[in-house]
Amino acid sequence: MHKLPKIALIPYGGTIASAVQADGSAMPTLDIGEMAKQMPAVREIAEVVAQKTRALPSSDMTVRDLIDIAVAARAAIASGCRGAVVTQGTDTIEEIAFGLDLLCAGDDPIVVTGAMRNASLPSADGPANLIAAVRVAASASARGLGALVVLNDEIHAARFVRKSHTANPGTFRSAATGPIGWLAERDVRIVLRPLRRFHVTVPDDAVPSPVALLKMSLGDDGRLLDYLAQAGFAGLVLEGFGGGHVPRDVAAPGRIEALVETMPVVLASRAGSGEVLRATYGGFAGSETDLISRGVIYAGSLDGAKARILLTLLLMRGAGRDDIRRTFADVGPLS
Ligand code: ASP
Repeated sequence: MHKLPKIALIPYGGTIASAVQADGSAMPTLDIGEMAKQMPAVREIAEVVAQKTRALPSSDMTVRDLIDIAVAARAAIASGCRGAVVTQGTDTIEEIAFGLDLLCAGDDPIVVTGAMRNASLPSADGPANLIAAVRVAASASARGLGALVVLNDEIHAARFVRKSHTANPGTFRSAATGPIGWLAERDVRIVLRPLRRFHVTVPDDAVPSPVALLKMSLGDDGRLLDYLAQAGFAGLVLEGFGGGHVPRDVAAPGRIEALVETMPVVLASRAGSGEVLRATYGGFAGSETDLISRGVIYAGSLDGAKARILLTLLLMRGAGRDDIRRTFADVGPLS
């Protein structure tokens, strides 16, 4: 008889593992490993090897969890699994998936999925997403694509995907590229392949470096920036307006310089898609050219959350300023 591929299942809670409790609130209490075993569709595709992990709302997941998942996925693959499926809350999928993309260098698919409607709601999407994720993880055509996010029958590259709606099952969007594939009945279709992948090697026991992410808003007076070093932050991502601008007070004389002296400061955009500019606006404090000339590092097309993951991992690897700048220059534009 045809031997089914082994797929590791790494469950981490979230809505996909949630059902409504006696008090009326949804909690991640379901055993996803058991659920997968009971699903005939999953049993037809793969031999699922479920791990015992944690059941959290994904707002409670940390960079430590990211590293643990990467270690678990790599170990499962080294011991014969053809791919891994991570199930978790959708709120932080874009960060965990991008982190896995950076941390897992092999060709075996690592697929992250979740659900927008818990198991107690009509049209709960968890079971269908789980089946789709296992299908993609077991598919030869998904090899070599890096970490993927599969929900609502769409396949997204971790590098580009973002959660875009609070409740809609079609919440995951990749503004730059669209999905790189989809599921059609039982088939996995890949229609785009990333040109390049990037990897960061972090010791498994490295302690996560605290990196702040500050989103700019109208009239921000920049006072928070003065407390970051004393609060113990090791790095900062500024999510600026549009092409990468911050209010004049944030860029007040000496403020950016003092920060840049003590930690790497990366400039991303809050716009949601596109690259931070490098050479369009000048002549005013807080323009992209002003910030870059004062030592701020350009994040390219990485949004603030993804730039923060990359900066955190680089700091955990012990990267120095030049290394960080070079890596962002390489990863950011993705060309
Ligand atoms: N709050 C949930 C979580 O991220 C939402 C979800 O799973 O979609 O854990």
